[in-house]
Amino acid sequence: MPFTGFNLSYPEYEVTTPHTKLTFNVRSLNVSEEEKMKGSLVSPNKITEHLNKCIYETLVKKPAAIKDFEAFLKTCTLKDRDALLYGLYHITYEEVRNYDITCSTCGKQYPVTIQASDTFNFNVFPHKDILKKEYKIALPVSKGITAVIKQPSLWDEMTAIKNLSSRPGSSIELITETLILDRFEQEIEGDKKAKIYKERVDLLDAYLTLPARDKRVIHKTYQDELGKYGVDLKMKSFCPHCSAEEDVDIDLVSQFFRMVYSA
Ligand SMILES: [Zn+2]
Repeated sequence: MPFTGFNLSYPEYEVTTPHTKLTFNVRSLNVSEEEKMKGSLVSPNKITEHLNKCIYETLVKKPAAIKDFEAFLKTCTLKDRDALLYGLYHITYEEVRNYDITCSTCGKQYPVTIQASDTFNFNVFPHKDILKKEYKIALPVSKGITAVIKQPSLWDEMTAIKNLSSRPGSSIELITETLILDRFEQEIEGDKKAKIYKERVDLLDAYLTLPARDKRVIHKTYQDELGKYGVDLKMKSFCPHCSAEEDVDIDLVSQFFRMVYSA
């Protein structure tokens, strides 16, 4: 007889996002979705887009305000996506298999297998409206220049990748790294009004000219105010070669793709 569908209900997992504090239910990926994800690995520019779509399609329960994909992208942050991805990973694969660790004491590699839930840490943003917050940093080396940073949404990320990734010299890493910049303000002597740089292209060019110390202050401020809130997968492991203890931070995105690819 022709296949008319199993009428399955997939396993679900509830996720609260650490930045925007919204509650979602994600369901397990199915085989066809895994195959689609594999296809996205071919073009690095498309990975983020595929990942967002894939997560969105597995949301079986979401806040009423999120009516479509665009609203989802505008509401959630990159750290929120990490949490959703964790939920999706947990409900689809359960464990992290053959994760390779390089011992920092003896330099040898060894694989570990762990339950994703055993390594899970959740640190929630303690204030409201994370997407509206701004932090002004007077750069310590570049006198008279203020960097204003904010928490980017998935929409900001997608737009930046779309507009900038074909531009010579702008890698995905650089685009991602500069997403937290909202604008630079430069005071001009004798001028009452500061010069403001807000376009992403200008922000990227300006960022590349900064002294290294200014760059570090920008990222440290982001980490202290916003970046430390989120989910992470942390574990302790012991090297079988020299028995040194290792604190391991599992990179969820690359692990996710590794699992999809080996499934
Ligand atoms: Zn070792």
